[in-house]
Amino acid sequence: MTLTGNGGNGNNRDVSNDRSYGNERPPNALELAWVRVRAHLKNEYGDAAFKNWLRSLTLLRASGDKVVLAVTSKFWRDWIAAHYGDRLVALWKAENMGFNGVEIVVNATEAKERPRGDALEMPPREAEEERPMPAPAPMNGEEPRLGDVKHLCTPLDPRLTFETFVIGKPNEFAHAAALRVAEADEIPFNPLFLYGGVGLGKTHLMHAIAWRLGMRNPVRRVMFLSSETFMHLFVKAVRYKDTHAFKEQFRSVDVLMIDDVQFFGEKSATQEELFHTFNALVDHRRQVIISADKPPVDLQGIEERLKSRLGSGVVAQLNPTNYELRLSILQAKAEQRGVAIPPKVLEFLAHKITSNIRELEGAMTRLFAHATLLNSREISIDMAQEVLQDLLRANDRHVTIDDIQKRVCEHYNIKMADLLSPRRARAVARPRQVAMYLAKQLTTRSLPEIGRKFGGRDHTTIMHGVRKIEELKQGDPSLNEDIEILTRSLTR
Ligand code: ADP
Ligand code: MG
Repeated sequence: MTLTGNGGNGNNRDVSNDRSYGNERPPNALELAWVRVRAHLKNEYGDAAFKNWLRSLTLLRASGDKVVLAVTSKFWRDWIAAHYGDRLVALWKAENMGFNGVEIVVNATEAKERPRGDALEMPPREAEEERPMPAPAPMNGEEPRLGDVKHLCTPLDPRLTFETFVIGKPNEFAHAAALRVAEADEIPFNPLFLYGGVGLGKTHLMHAIAWRLGMRNPVRRVMFLSSETFMHLFVKAVRYKDTHAFKEQFRSVDVLMIDDVQFFGEKSATQEELFHTFNALVDHRRQVIISADKPPVDLQGIEERLKSRLGSGVVAQLNPTNYELRLSILQAKAEQRGVAIPPKVLEFLAHKITSNIRELEGAMTRLFAHATLLNSREISIDMAQEVLQDLLRANDRHVTIDDIQKRVCEHYNIKMADLLSPRRARAVARPRQVAMYLAKQLTTRSLPEIGRKFGGRDHTTIMHGVRKIEELKQGDPSLNEDIEILTRSLTR
């Protein structure tokens, strides 16, 4: 549903004060959309995320086909963009207001960049650069105080345990290393460095280790910090000129865990601090566990000596998922939530959503929400396709027509030149149609675009090919199997 308020469809719809709409005037369409987007995010990522970062995000305005959001620091901007950027864009697109992207600006910069006499009439903002970063949610809802280890930790999510972690080829080594550290009485290796792309389970494994350590030995002082908490504490300590106490706390723990150290890049003071803390802990035989998006050698802006220390224990990768792992995770999640989803739908999702596990979960959450809201409808592939349009499209980008043609040639053992030629012999015509069908199914290319990629064929020829395969598939199990195998190998 598209709401048209005083903002209409025009560009540069502005929000003169994003926190105080309500009393003076009714919210405009853009503001209402933002309320919905936030509600989705809160629903999908939970209250903790809301307290941590969502609250710090404010709506500024629309600019062309972009929504401009603001945060209070560069750190938060990078953090939110890295973790939730895709989802933010997808949700705004889903509002159908013509938005294609989201820009996140740091408030202070935004204020400086805006020309004088700007028609947007933004209220003046204070120099927000100086403001403290929003506090990450502490366990009891209070500000963490310096001087108390328990209060410094990032709260652990009860859902992220070894019991809920699904093991597959791509993550079995990282899992084994994590479990080893969590169950060992003596330090098996130091540090444990877990790395991998966004949404592949680093934070999950970190929480799982912390839970297990705490369960096995409640007196052991385990400190688990997200990089945002570490930064927050550090900035605060510097502001209160209390870096000594800050250092002491870290050094008094038995196990130190820091998630996402790539965010420390180029923040040299924090890096320096981390390095010294790290050395002190390792020298005193305390376990250190670190995660990042890259292996130590590839971390940018991090000093060589820190890199080499970080890589001196066990470095374990969380690899991109494969079809089997995705399917097992979907099955496990459906079971955990007690929702019956037809196996065909799970297989469809495992094929199509190949980016990461967070997106897979997001897809499931959305499907459940729709199924519950429209409780008469059962979850089907059609429904999934409709509800998850944007996610599916974003994931499609990975498969190209070139990939498809190459794989089809390999599969049927024919030459690329033949596939693209006008030859009509069955032995090449059928594989060609299969490739056309796959191009239509697995990419977002239009029929004319596909036609151009197939030796300049007309779009009607492509349509004919696609229909032919759809028809034949019905009664031809071996063709069906070919398509299944090809799809699998292209989307994993
Ligand atoms: P990262 O920290 O690597 O960006 P997360 O650990 O936050 O990724 O994982 C993203 C989401 O996917 C989380 O909700 C997590 O529970 C889930 N997840 C990741 N790996 C697995 C797994 N192997 N089994 C079950 N859920 C997983
Ligand atoms: Mg993480």
